[in-house]
Amino acid sequence: MTTAHRPASPSAGPVPAQRSPVLQELAGSLRGELALPGTPAFARLATAFNAALELRPAAVAAVADAYDVVRTVRVAARHGLRVAVQCTGHGAAAGMDEAVLVHTGALDEIVVHPREAWARVGAGVRMREVVDAAAASGLTPLAGSSSGVGVVGFTTGGGLGPLARTYGLASDRVRALDVVTGDGRLVRATPTEHEDLFWALRGGRGSAGIVTAVEIDLVPLSSVYGGALHFAAEDVPAVLHAWRTWAPSLPGTATSSLAVQQLPPLPHVPAPLAGRMTVAVRLASTGSARQGAELLAPLRAVATPVLDRMAVLSVTSLDAIHLDPTSPIPARQAAMVLRDLTEDAVEALLAVAGPGSGSPLGIVELRQLGGAVGLPGVHPSAVCHRDAGYVVMGAGLRLPHTDAGVTAGLDALGAALGSWSTGATLPNFGGGTRAYDAPTLDRLRSVVLAHDPGRVMLAADPLFAPLGV
Ligand SMILES: Cc1cc2nc3c(=O)[nH]c(=O)nc-3n(C[C@H](O)[C@H](O)[C@H](O)COP(=O)(O)OP(=O)(O)OC[C@H]3O[C@@H](n4cnc5c(N)ncnc54)[C@H](O)[C@@H]3O)c2cc1C
Repeated sequence: MTTAHRPASPSAGPVPAQRSPVLQELAGSLRGELALPGTPAFARLATAFNAALELRPAAVAAVADAYDVVRTVRVAARHGLRVAVQCTGHGAAAGMDEAVLVHTGALDEIVVHPREAWARVGAGVRMREVVDAAAASGLTPLAGSSSGVGVVGFTTGGGLGPLARTYGLASDRVRALDVVTGDGRLVRATPTEHEDLFWALRGGRGSAGIVTAVEIDLVPLSSVYGGALHFAAEDVPAVLHAWRTWAPSLPGTATSSLAVQQLPPLPHVPAPLAGRMTVAVRLASTGSARQGAELLAPLRAVATPVLDRMAVLSVTSLDAIHLDPTSPIPARQAAMVLRDLTEDAVEALLAVAGPGSGSPLGIVELRQLGGAVGLPGVHPSAVCHRDAGYVVMGAGLRLPHTDAGVTAGLDALGAALGSWSTGATLPNFGGGTRAYDAPTLDRLRSVVLAHDPGRVMLAADPLFAPLGV
């Protein structure tokens, strides 16, 4: 696993509106607002969930509708500006200097079709809103570990959630996308219209265009048996070894992940977990509560948890399983997929991230893949590496006094697990060229160049970065 260090871009500095005819033209063409550096609107919109990142676009186009996105792309392209896109900032990367950032927050349409079990969702909608809207009809979208992420960003990056082994990836449940391409057209991408965009936008993130709305299937589910068992530091080795053999024995109705955590005392962190090393075994089982409890029995036999959060959970509480941060936090992280998790791999992980290792990482998480994740979706997509066994993600606090240690800790984790990894990752877990195999990367680049010959869309840049980044 390599730590992604993006080279710092030279700062363009704020571009005052009165000295920029381009931005004046853009502001005049929008129904929404063009927020310029130095204004309160800019400070509110140009923010990343990773609080260590400072976003410095030339301006933020807070678009009011899909046609505002078209106008933004056309004006920007005419004047040689690049265009970036953002909803919540959960996946924001630095390097937007001199680009116009399209902020989709106002594209807030949510229409649930309960009888046909699907929803139309605007690009400004967070997963929490769709979860709540669908739950009223006994349905749920395939959400991730945090319901604060945007539906479009999550889904275009594959979308791996706590129900993944049962229902697959969120990107496999897409019916249609409305998208503005880099050459300034608003088109509808479905399995039979603009098939190349439909393929690329499911896994290729925002590289092939700016999605203004997505139509997704919902699954009929009201509750699961799940949550997390948290064990003390001294039990980390036994729990990890037990999870290694237990997780592959789970049926496809259950999805598990494990996290070695050293969580700071933040509001979302339960007191028994704060300020110490613990290990969490998480589960979401879509069978009955009794089946779920039976599945867990071998794990409960390993040690006594310091905190037991297993229960029958409403689908509206699935985001409580992982205890993801709910407010911006400065972080550095890295991820890669593992083919398998052998006894030696567990020992290697313990050596760099277990008790006594001096690990500076706040979390080392193993998400179990397999089940429906490993099956191809009904329609081909740009998601690769579905046959991997696990995705491992490490993260730590990116503060001036911690960053060097965290970087070293991530490098050590990558080196320790290197023998079990291809070096690849999933689009929402690090992304870049490592998320794709060579034929997929070639095809993605072709789709981008076909729809965005001027390379207006900034989100495509990682595809054209040197291999391995
Ligand atoms: C706390 C946390 C938990 C997470 N948990 C999971 C998880 O369980 N599973 C998982 O798969 N991922 C997870 N992620 C990763 C997350 O899904 C991705 O970073 C996703 O891209 C975030 O989308 P966003 O719109 O919220 O973020 P933003 O920062 O607003 O957008 C990130 C990227 O998404 C793309 N994008 C956003 N909007 C559009 C649009 N309208 N059109 C085209 N492209 C667009 C662009 O490439 C953009 O750069 C998590 C991230 C965080 C910070």
